[in-house]
Amino acid sequence: MLIVMQKKATQDQVDRVVDAIESRKYQARPLPGGERVAIGVLYNKGAVDANMFSSMPGVKEVISVTRPYKLVSRELKADDTIINVGDLQIGGNNFVIMAGPCAIESYDQAITIAEAIVNKGAHMFRGGAYKPRTSPYSFQGLGEEGLEIMAKVREQTGMPIITEVMDLETFDQVESHSDIIQIGTRNMQNFSLLRRAGQSSKPIFLKRGMAATIDEWLMAAEYILEGGNTDVILCERGVRTFVNHSRNTLDISAVPVVKKETHLPIMIDPSHAGGHRDQVIPLSRASVAVGAHGIMVEVHHEPDKAMSDGGQSLYPDQFEQLCVQVEAIRQAI
Ligand code: PEP
Ligand code: MN
Repeated sequence: MLIVMQKKATQDQVDRVVDAIESRKYQARPLPGGERVAIGVLYNKGAVDANMFSSMPGVKEVISVTRPYKLVSRELKADDTIINVGDLQIGGNNFVIMAGPCAIESYDQAITIAEAIVNKGAHMFRGGAYKPRTSPYSFQGLGEEGLEIMAKVREQTGMPIITEVMDLETFDQVESHSDIIQIGTRNMQNFSLLRRAGQSSKPIFLKRGMAATIDEWLMAAEYILEGGNTDVILCERGVRTFVNHSRNTLDISAVPVVKKETHLPIMIDPSHAGGHRDQVIPLSRASVAVGAHGIMVEVHHEPDKAMSDGGQSLYPDQFEQLCVQVEAIRQAI
């Protein structure tokens, strides 16, 4: 349930509503908006009697929240969430491009790629330091050394960085280095990791589980908001289907659905969706056309020698082309 206060409601009236909610053993979550405060009611097992609140001083209306997720839903917060990372804004009318290699392999590799993309349209530098690999025999990432390399790249190029956290043990380490913390498809329902992310002061980039429904994905985001961290960016990265012409199937229709259901920004990862270099630019064009708030793309200067995902990594000149095309579509719409 959502209790919407009148524009002129006083702090005292807000506090009295909060007290009334808490005296019934529910949790009150005031949500300041541009014009008025709304108060979310959480932890109610069944329906809450709206009449108890609708006649209280300062209350404009009481709206029942019909979705299983609350804090992430548009029913509770109508306006888009905009996430600030330095000067960069993610959400609203902005289109953000995060780019870089699948894995950080060395300082030379990372800085070469970063310098090739920094003034060509990339807003953030991505790269994996801790890699979730299907095979234990594959390159697992450089770990802390990879994080330090990324921090150096940020210092030298000015691009904020995003990297994946895989477990609770390394959460503090990733959090202290990265500007945005990525939770990958394989960890979307790792609930202890989501709870820890809820306590973080850094924005969380939550990729969709490869077999997750949109409800499951939004409930995963709800864990993070419930913990107190309201800065969550969703990322559609393709789901498992019967096809084998692409690595996954990009669920492009997830974007309008998610935008209707939630105020959180939604981005697309065309690289892990397509899995083949020649699919990445077309899927990026589709991403901007469908209304995503940005894309995350893998780029490598020597993809044939990449230690992971070389086959889906763009060459730097292809990345430049992608940025030009994406911008043209953005202007057109
Ligand atoms: C990645 O972005 O490096 C990654 C492993 O992606 P996903 O979790 O979508 O597979
Ligand atoms: Mn990858």
